[in-house]
Amino acid sequence: MKDVITGLTASRKQLVQRMPNPATILPGSLLSRMVRCNKPGCQHCEKGKGKGHGPIWILSVSVPVPRELKKEVESNLRAFAQAQKLLKQIGAVNLELLRERKRQR
Ligand SMILES: [Zn+2]
Repeated sequence: MKDVITGLTASRKQLVQRMPNPATILPGSLLSRMVRCNKPGCQHCEKGKGKGHGPIWILSVSVPVPRELKKEVESNLRAFAQAQKLLKQIGAVNLELLRERKRQR
């Protein structure tokens, strides 16, 4: 009985240790697309041949992402997803702990 609580408490501690720094979390996902400038004679945008300019990186909340910030934004998005996942897991452990403690009363 006591072992169950000890085990759950240890799992919870491990989950908490894996929690990313909440200061880095960012919601959304990163999308990329090519853009056309419509300038006459632009070889990047030439009809049928040119691929356009880019890729440009766009956060799904519609904030343009400068190329030099792409890696940081990706890392922040991973932190957000990781934090959400861990919060769910910690919540599940706490539920089990609650059930276990109720059982032991
Ligand atoms: Zn162009």
